[in-house]
Amino acid sequence: MTENLLEVRDLKKHFPITAGVFRHTAGYVKAVDGVSFQLKQGETLGIVGESGCGKSTLGRMVMRVLDTTSGTITLEGQDITHLSGTSLRRIRPKFQMVFQDPYASLNPKIAVGDIIAEPLVVNGHSSKTATERVVELLETVGLRADDRRRYPHEFSGGQRQRIGIARALTLQPKLIIADEAVSALDVSIQAQILNLMVDLRKQFNLSYMFISHNLAVVRHISDRVAVMYLGQLVEVASKREIYENPLHPYTQALLSAAPEPKRHGRRERIVLQGDVPSPAKPPLGCPFHTRCPQVLDICKTEAPRLRQVISGHLTACHLHA
Ligand code: SF4
Repeated sequence: MTENLLEVRDLKKHFPITAGVFRHTAGYVKAVDGVSFQLKQGETLGIVGESGCGKSTLGRMVMRVLDTTSGTITLEGQDITHLSGTSLRRIRPKFQMVFQDPYASLNPKIAVGDIIAEPLVVNGHSSKTATERVVELLETVGLRADDRRRYPHEFSGGQRQRIGIARALTLQPKLIIADEAVSALDVSIQAQILNLMVDLRKQFNLSYMFISHNLAVVRHISDRVAVMYLGQLVEVASKREIYENPLHPYTQALLSAAPEPKRHGRRERIVLQGDVPSPAKPPLGCPFHTRCPQVLDICKTEAPRLRQVISGHLTACHLHA
């Protein structure tokens, strides 16, 4: 069996733009445009980028709640890209999602114990087994056994995210895709939830695909970081390499703008000019060339490939060709 839990190859999601009375296809929004990466068991990959860069679309494709335009998703050596129906339901326990807004994803009319137990009941477990598992999960995420009788609105935002995590753990997944999982929480609560996720990863040898716009949050939890811009990965490296030796001008700009109280020596702030181009009309050549402070002539016509520059450190930039 492959040592990678998850392999994503050349994944694309192009949404058609329709126009006219006959709704003909006038173009495509290239939300995700050729993304490849691997994730090992027990590893956390942070996916970071500005709003609209395609990171959530990528997560939803890997989660198989959104169809792909092309490319492949392989989980434990099995191609799951086009699974549906019973085949998809059979492997669904292996990968679960934690959402940004747990309140929106928790049915307010159902007691928390029943919300967490639902996947067990659907899979034919007895109510005694389900209750025992619910109690165990609540305690695992730092809540009390009695909390199973309460309803989502009776909990704080941080507690609700703990419930969301408990529900994601119910069927003992190997992979959790967390999409802006702490973005809606206060900073002090964010740290508690991130620490919980780190503990759970160790306890259950979980892998996380951790999607966030927040570099500080991604830094806290990730082993490796992938930086996304306009539907493509522009840099992938270990956390240490990304934060101490960023190679891509976009990563450098993001880091220069991020508040980092513990940073040794301040980075000069790089202010990017212009807006992110529309994914319906991405620029020719390097997708970042319209805003890049180090743009070369070649950048306007030739797209750089994501390639390894030093061991385990990949970037898509002509400065490092
Ligand atoms: Fe900038 Fe060119 Fe590198 Fe793109 S390829 S990031 S435009 S230097």
